Amino acid sequence: MTAEPPWRAARRRSCLWLTLLLVHSPAMAWNAAGHRISALIAWERLDPTSRSALAGILRQHPDYGRWQRRAKSSDPDQAAFLEASTWPDDIRSDQRFYSAGREPPTPTRKGFPDMERRLNWHYVDRPLNPGRRAPPSAGRLDRQLTALAGILCDAKASSAERAYTLPWLIHLVGDAHQPLHAASRYGPRGDGDGGGNEQQIVNPFQRRHSSTNLHRYWDGLPGSSWLRGRRLESTVRALTILYPPTPTAPAAEPAQWIEESWRLAREAAYPPGDDAVPTISARFHANALDIAGRRVTEAGYRLADLLAPVRSRGCAAH
Ligand SMILES: [Zn+2]
Repeated sequence: MTAEPPWRAARRRSCLWLTLLLVHSPAMAWNAAGHRISALIAWERLDPTSRSALAGILRQHPDYGRWQRRAKSSDPDQAAFLEASTWPDDIRSDQRFYSAGREPPTPTRKGFPDMERRLNWHYVDRPLNPGRRAPPSAGRLDRQLTALAGILCDAKASSAERAYTLPWLIHLVGDAHQPLHAASRYGPRGDGDGGGNEQQIVNPFQRRHSSTNLHRYWDGLPGSSWLRGRRLESTVRALTILYPPTPTAPAAEPAQWIEESWRLAREAAYPPGDDAVPTISARFHANALDIAGRRVTEAGYRLADLLAPVRSRGCAAH
């Protein structure tokens, strides 16, 4: 094969980068655009047997009809998989559900084990400054990833259990790749910053709402929350070219994803300096966009690996 001239490779990279920057616009969340990007990358890598098993599981979910109404896809199986990826965030504002410790339980609806929002499944707070006193994290992200993968592969699990489990698993693989879902800074009195939620920043690259917090800034890097359809597809194409899968990478485990996120949080998630309310610099922003793009893409590859063995009952043997 003839080598590509260096100028052409450079131009190709800058075009891709521009595409990525253009599709990035102010900011709702990793919890919508980012999750859908990872889910579409995974879906495109799964074979027809796995896709049909996963689609069959999702058809049993009580909110399957809502997903179909909301989706922009002519393929109902793919639409369910993409919309399921944000379901654990969607229920944050769904009145059928309640937040334990803050509200009384709501009546259990058919097809759900209970109606708790499980807000502590989305993160695990590992201290970034290990010398600091930090209480044990209330977050269960690491444990839930393992538990949910076990339920999905359990041949004795009911179809309702598996239908409840799968959207959570799709979603939490994404969360595990967001650096600030795996780390917090702790002050001298053991008070954490909630994965950057308590760290106010100014983001001059956002036209409106430039005053925000660091966690929300990172959540918003992959794109805006309405990203669906053709723009989602073109974003996925750009990202998978920019960040191709590494064929030699060892089989990744949830503990490793979280360790990587924690390291990224320590090295690159907080703006440098001692300002109480730092302003995001162009250099910091470009690096953060690069990390976010790479992480949502890696999450997609790993989600495909995790879900490839799933069958209509249990999982295929490796
Ligand atoms: Zn989440």
